[in-house]
Amino acid sequence: MNTTADATSTPDHIALTERWSAHNYHPLPVVLTHGEGAWVTAQDGRRHLDFVAGYSALNFGHRHPDIVAAAKAQLDRLTLTGRSFHNDQFGVFCRELAELTGTESVLPANTGAEAVESAVKVARKWAYQVKGVPDGAAEIVVAGSNFHGRTTTMVSISTDALARKDFGPFTPGFRVVPFGDIDALRAAVGPNTAAVLLEPVQGEAGVVVPPKGYLSEVRQLCDDSRTLFVADEVQCGMARTGATLALDHDGVRADLYALGKSLGGGLMPVSAVVGRADVLGVLAPGEHGSTFGGNPLACAVGRAVVRLLATGEFQERSRELGTYLHARLRELDGVAEVRGRGLWAGVQIAEGRTTGVDVSRALLERGLLCKENNGHLRVAPPLVITREEIDFGVEAIAGVLG
Ligand SMILES: *Cc1c(COP(=O)(O)O)cnc(C)c1O
Repeated sequence: MNTTADATSTPDHIALTERWSAHNYHPLPVVLTHGEGAWVTAQDGRRHLDFVAGYSALNFGHRHPDIVAAAKAQLDRLTLTGRSFHNDQFGVFCRELAELTGTESVLPANTGAEAVESAVKVARKWAYQVKGVPDGAAEIVVAGSNFHGRTTTMVSISTDALARKDFGPFTPGFRVVPFGDIDALRAAVGPNTAAVLLEPVQGEAGVVVPPKGYLSEVRQLCDDSRTLFVADEVQCGMARTGATLALDHDGVRADLYALGKSLGGGLMPVSAVVGRADVLGVLAPGEHGSTFGGNPLACAVGRAVVRLLATGEFQERSRELGTYLHARLRELDGVAEVRGRGLWAGVQIAEGRTTGVDVSRALLERGLLCKENNGHLRVAPPLVITREEIDFGVEAIAGVLG
């Protein structure tokens, strides 16, 4: 085994990863070296269609030329200042992102988990300062089967045993209710509730869309009880579901949104909390921050993403091609259920079809990157994908399940 930095074979790279990295992932045996649009190339020269798209961090595909050009131009000017100084990208980025999302104010961060953490802190502070919740008593109600990231507080609100085991003690101040159950939510919200925090479409849970009317009822409940509605749109936002924000489908506005993943255009981590100016306004200098949050390189990349989304082209692609993708997946033998919205599908594999077969590996053999998880496939191709490419991917799935 060659353990030097110039290892060149696929087994070498896999061996290096095994030997030198923590084993918190179990990657498929493929070493990717190039990406363009909806396709990646592996070290052995084989091309694969990407049906994962970085868990929606690559909504615009690999190396979208506009985003790469914006990053390159910014790399030649200024990359990092810290927020102790102004830079000529930050303010414009905030205005453009707020205008795109119909919000009033932006709190920048880097990762998705950090954005949700920031929203939790803001909601708690709002509860004490504005709602009048007694000190230390603020509660946040979250949904079961959620995914909000991997920090200590985010795993504290997880209901996934594997994500929690041996990571306690956990952050207090949260209540969990079943996703999509308005009565359970109503019973959990009280005078000390700062916020209801949920994903309008649950991504990691398998692309779960709540019952019709649920999100409007959540909004109404929050209004009636003076509670903030915090939407985690880190994965479902930025055109993934066929609208800029997933809540747009229901005509519902959240008080705060956590955004991430595709906000960084597949180039770098860029996240933000966007929402009401009076709510984000509870933060004063020194109370919250981030070294890299709002850096000019991230803002230049984020601005390129906002420009792409402002045309509506990607939202439309997601709607139209999503309808096609869902119809094609529904026809397949071995598929029990297809959930989701837009170019995003949770494909429940019929009982018995997965026995003894490693579905993700079999798909890889057919030139498709797509992960199987707890009996379902999560299909989330880049929104630049074409109808013919969708056919290629669906046929690979048909071949493995059939
Ligand atoms: C991925 C994800 C996060 C966490 O984002 P990271 O960048 O991995 O920290 C949070 N919420 C949702 C809904 C996600 O899908």
